[in-house]
Amino acid sequence: MKKILLCLICISSLICLFACGGHECKECVDGNGDHKCDSCTKTVSTCADTDNNHVCDLCKATVSSCKTEDGDHICDLCKKVMGECADTNNDHKCDTCSAKLSKCADTNKDEICDVCGEPYSTKVVLPTIPIPLG
Ligand SMILES: [Zn+2]
Ligand SMILES: [Zn+2]
Ligand SMILES: [Zn+2]
Ligand SMILES: [Zn+2]
Ligand SMILES: [Zn+2]
Repeated sequence: MKKILLCLICISSLICLFACGGHECKECVDGNGDHKCDSCTKTVSTCADTDNNHVCDLCKATVSSCKTEDGDHICDLCKKVMGECADTNNDHKCDTCSAKLSKCADTNKDEICDVCGEPYSTKVVLPTIPIPLG
């Protein structure tokens, strides 16, 4: 009976040795910047991007991608310019920043703007003040 008990302790300590890796650090150290302790391989930190370059400051993994939520064509994080003004819905305005891109024109003389489909009269003299872009 005593022998069996001894063997059980033996087995359980073996399992522990296997599961715990047989090593425990007093203080985990991540010298190579992979978020893992160099000696026990325990995860000690998570990716962080404090300089807003979309790359983790430690392991250099990509943590985010460019986005412009305020719609000014400039990435909110890395300040990179993302694309040019474009008017895909033909309202003479940029789909992203709402800047005025063009003015109504009627080349086929049907009194309807070729771009936005709004009524357009050639009789009306439009002011020739240049519209600043961007
Ligand atoms: Zn460790
Ligand atoms: Zn990282
Ligand atoms: Zn960016
Ligand atoms: Zn724009
Ligand atoms: Zn128009």
